[in-house]
Amino acid sequence: MYIFDTLMNRMRRGCQTMAYPHGPAPALPDRHGGALRLDASACPAGCDACAEVCPTGAISRQPGSSTTLDLGRCLFCGACTKTCPHGAVTRTSDHRLAVRRRDDLLLGKPGEEELRLAEALDKKMKSLLGRSLRLRQVSAGGCCACEADINVLGTIGWDLGRFGIQYVASPRHADGVLITGPVTKGMELALRKTWEAVPEPRIAIALGACAISGGPFIGHPQHNGGADPVVPIDLYIPGCPPHPLTILDGFLRLLGRLEEQKG
Ligand code: SF4
Ligand code: SF4
Repeated sequence: MYIFDTLMNRMRRGCQTMAYPHGPAPALPDRHGGALRLDASACPAGCDACAEVCPTGAISRQPGSSTTLDLGRCLFCGACTKTCPHGAVTRTSDHRLAVRRRDDLLLGKPGEEELRLAEALDKKMKSLLGRSLRLRQVSAGGCCACEADINVLGTIGWDLGRFGIQYVASPRHADGVLITGPVTKGMELALRKTWEAVPEPRIAIALGACAISGGPFIGHPQHNGGADPVVPIDLYIPGCPPHPLTILDGFLRLLGRLEEQKG
């Protein structure tokens, strides 16, 4: 009887998985400001109000040079947007944050007011992966909030499996590694061994401010300042933690699924 009731309930509820990416993306919560934008031309000489409140040194202003903002260090706390009296740093409400190169997260130069979104893998790599992507997750010393949002993608609302994307237990069965945390000295060898155990060609994804730059732990001597010094990174997904929608957008962007949809 219990099984029958469960089946009936499921049928009554219908499909609970969101339509995205074939339908509209779910709205971000109000407190989530999305990607930041920096219009350095609005910064008057001598002002460094935003840099002073930034907890991770993501914003820098050297005398005589323009303002720069590193979204790889950003915790998206919003302090700079509230503090800036000139409207130079603003929130865009855009969930799309994944990039292929570290420099694409640096804002400030003319024409680089916003990040440069990730392109897809090359044709050969995409054809090798086919319609699936298997990732071995390596939690390298963060707070576990990034891992929580990675796991959210496995719930019925997101249903990551419909894209052929799976987290696997063995690196031997993986196409790449998904790294979280600043890569503490204690986790460095484990990450190296996991990476080496993944058959080539392989990919590496740095997820969260910690894995990109050290995030809130920047400057601590017991970590590597992110995954870059240990493993060559193919995709950076900023946030602290990144919203599940940002993570999914990054995965699909890397696989070229969003481009296919546009085409
Ligand atoms: S939103 Fe990012 S750049 Fe702005 S103060 Fe917070 S951490 Fe720094
Ligand atoms: S990036 Fe932020 S949320 Fe993710 S592990 Fe580091 S501290 Fe935690």
